[in-house]
Amino acid sequence: MRVRFAPSPTGHLHVGNARTALFNWLLARGQGGTFVLRLEDTDDVRSNVASADGIVEDLRWLGLTWDEGPDVGGAFGPYRQTERLGHYRAHAERLMAGGHAYHCFCSPADLEAQREVALREGRTPQYAGTCRDIDPASARARVEGGEPAAIRFRVPPRDAVTFTDLVRGPITTDIAMIGDFVLIRQNGVPAYNFAVVVDDLEMAITLVVRGEDHVPNTPRQCLLYDALGAAPPQFAHLSLVLGPDHAPLSKRHGASSVGEFRARGILPEALVNYLALLGWSPGQGEELLPAAELARRFRVEDVTRSAGVFDPDKLAWMNRHYVKTADPARIATLLVPHLRDAGLLAADASGGGDLAPFLLACVPLVAGTVDTLADAPERLRPVFETPRPSATVEHLAGEAAEAAEAGRQVVVAFAQELSGRPRLTRETFREAAQQVRQRTGQKGRALFHPIRLALTGADSGPELDLLVPAIEAGAQAPGHVGLAPIVGCRERAAICAAALVGA
Ligand code: GLU
Repeated sequence: MRVRFAPSPTGHLHVGNARTALFNWLLARGQGGTFVLRLEDTDDVRSNVASADGIVEDLRWLGLTWDEGPDVGGAFGPYRQTERLGHYRAHAERLMAGGHAYHCFCSPADLEAQREVALREGRTPQYAGTCRDIDPASARARVEGGEPAAIRFRVPPRDAVTFTDLVRGPITTDIAMIGDFVLIRQNGVPAYNFAVVVDDLEMAITLVVRGEDHVPNTPRQCLLYDALGAAPPQFAHLSLVLGPDHAPLSKRHGASSVGEFRARGILPEALVNYLALLGWSPGQGEELLPAAELARRFRVEDVTRSAGVFDPDKLAWMNRHYVKTADPARIATLLVPHLRDAGLLAADASGGGDLAPFLLACVPLVAGTVDTLADAPERLRPVFETPRPSATVEHLAGEAAEAAEAGRQVVVAFAQELSGRPRLTRETFREAAQQVRQRTGQKGRALFHPIRLALTGADSGPELDLLVPAIEAGAQAPGHVGLAPIVGCRERAAICAAALVGA
């Protein structure tokens, strides 16, 4: 099996196209096939190198590695259409020699005028056949004389063209719907339908999996395979990816490109897992599966015809799972850009070295509790924010006199306990709390609620067992790592105790 992903580098990689790439990849990896990346970059107005680079980078980030492509090469290259112009020209010449194509001298302005007339009269625009019967020898002479000419396909005298789509079943098109179409434009650039056939043929592609927007192109492509004396590959057209309102997924729905999901802190394995389930199911009620297992089970015949509705909540749920189960050191590194964006880390800070212990201490606070890593700074707020002691004073003042007094005693004892200690770890925090319990006789909520107030100024929040080590790691981080200043537990408790004693 040889499959390909053939993006036009005219923008960012949309998740719908990423799903197309993924389904091809799953097929190749699951069935020992070859996955080819080809850049369809002949549209010189809209194609650009930055987009091509971005698409390649996004595919790599998703882990959708290819066996042949513009960067890695391969036996069927080149893999950029702009480097293949000679191939299209040679095939067009072959088609002309066989009477399947002809030179067309109609000017773009004439063609546009004909189109407008057809549209005005409610007809589907179709080439009128003006140049169809020009004698090939005289056409050749005009071209040699410098007259601009396109090359057009001569649609054969048949009734219909049929192909069997692996997802949609047989699709038959009335040949009357297809006018003689352009293979190579006057400027020498091949039209999509022609370039794609030449490439898929020369690259020995056996199965074409692409978006359903290409269904109307496929009959034309089948006619070209026939004219070139070749059997067409198999085709499978995937339904569009829609937003929750059933309109094609776009910027209006929030994030729609792979880059945007990445910037929001979605992990690639979560996006891959999610996209695989958009129009296909691994069965047995299972949803959370690694890419290799998805590949093992994937069959293009099991893809549904109905459109895939993008469900951001489900993606968030999957991402939560993958953040929770990922290697903590990896999540620690991935937190860096989000802390930078939130202004909690200097713009030039990097994730390694002396910052690593702090980042690692933050991971348990984040893992399993945030949907995306972009939510991490908010979740980590109690680490960075020094509580106002007045908040604790007010909180305790609002409680019954006895509880308030007990709370004050706990905070004062906690401050005293910490004053002689080095920075806390999870274990030494428990020890310290145990000491405060012995000194004050308070336990359970009566013990931990005042401690929480002293450390965070809030009634509720992350588990203290996790929060304390993160605060302490932040307080110990050397200045050069670029972290926003974090006040340690000892100081927080001391400030709070002083305020309570003075109140
Ligand atoms: N370049 C086309 C696109 O981006 C893909 C064509 C194909 O897969 O045949 O829509």
